[in-house]
Amino acid sequence: MLQTAKSLNRLGTESAFDVLAQAQKLAAQGKDIINLGIGQPDFRTPDHIVEAGIKALRDGHHGYTPANGIPALREAVAADLENRHNVSVSPDNVVVVPGGKPTMFFAVLMFGEPGAEIMYPNPGFPIYESVIKYSGATPVPIALKEENGFAFDAEAVLAQITPATRLIIINSPANPTGGVTPKAEIDRLVAGLTDHPHVALLSDEIYSQMLYEGREHVSLLQYPEIRDRLIVLDGWSKTYAMTGWRLGYAIWPDALVDHTVRLCINDHSCVNAASQYAGLAALTGPQDAVREMVAAFDQRRKIIVSELNQIPGFRCADAAGAFYAFPNIEATGLTAREAQDKFLNEAGVATIAGTSFGEWGEGYIRFSYAADIDSIQEAIKRIRACL
Ligand code: PLP
Repeated sequence: MLQTAKSLNRLGTESAFDVLAQAQKLAAQGKDIINLGIGQPDFRTPDHIVEAGIKALRDGHHGYTPANGIPALREAVAADLENRHNVSVSPDNVVVVPGGKPTMFFAVLMFGEPGAEIMYPNPGFPIYESVIKYSGATPVPIALKEENGFAFDAEAVLAQITPATRLIIINSPANPTGGVTPKAEIDRLVAGLTDHPHVALLSDEIYSQMLYEGREHVSLLQYPEIRDRLIVLDGWSKTYAMTGWRLGYAIWPDALVDHTVRLCINDHSCVNAASQYAGLAALTGPQDAVREMVAAFDQRRKIIVSELNQIPGFRCADAAGAFYAFPNIEATGLTAREAQDKFLNEAGVATIAGTSFGEWGEGYIRFSYAADIDSIQEAIKRIRACL
């Protein structure tokens, strides 16, 4: 009998990958499956970015790079943040990693241990709760409610802080709800944190360019008073349709940069060079493709929200960010998990139960609208029919 560590039993998962596998299995059996489950853009990585990756390999960039990322890429990240958020960031605080996930894992490993408390959004990206539990820390959910547009309530977050609180994770625009937290709420959280100097903040801004209805992204980098304890996660996966390249970054406070780089060296050494050169081309090249993708998402968003609201028993908020619709389905009489199974098995539509994102997701289903309009409309027609 193998003697594995008990901590492994505390590690969760991201159901989107399970649903994807299930959907692919059904498709392999000849079933016609529409996948609105997985959260990745259905667009190709723009050509000039792909070419830069290929060129890097042809030019001989196939060895190790500095563990924190090639200097030109870290400089480009700093310049991009300055340009988008009007903030000053030193390339020395940028650490390039394979995707968005390593930053959340490293941040939680740095603060999490038995006796520590870490707050995280619920419903929220499932990896937060998973890695908090894995670290041995106590996960403290920040309940996100439909009536607040799935934004956090700063007062409620601050009221949950104890001497054991080490880290608070926030995410806007949000997965799985598409919710965008208003600036006033962020202002209140930051102001309240001055009374709790022992608490660090991880702001997951991976959807920072996916906003609609004239909403502007508020980056936590815009609050100089917390920069010494702020980690901001962002990356290329969603903005440039680069999920499979495994490329992301975070801005770390001075006190944590060296720890982060040491975790990189212990874990993955560095991100592959070709992806980093592709990421450089993404940041420094034309941004038309990003604008086109966001415009396409916006068009689909309007269609899916309107059509979901016409399904008896569904009520869908008009989410202003990311590429997810998160309708309330309680009035159908189905639990979130029953609805997920029914839609996949009877309608051939892959969606994700809200409970895959935490207990506060009961009664909701996540639809990713990273799919073409015809597929979205057909999916809704089939769900209506099966209900
Ligand atoms: N953060 C959030 C909120 C996400 O939804 C995702 C992916 O779905 C990630 C981070 C991770 O992105 P990556 O694929 O770059 O690891």
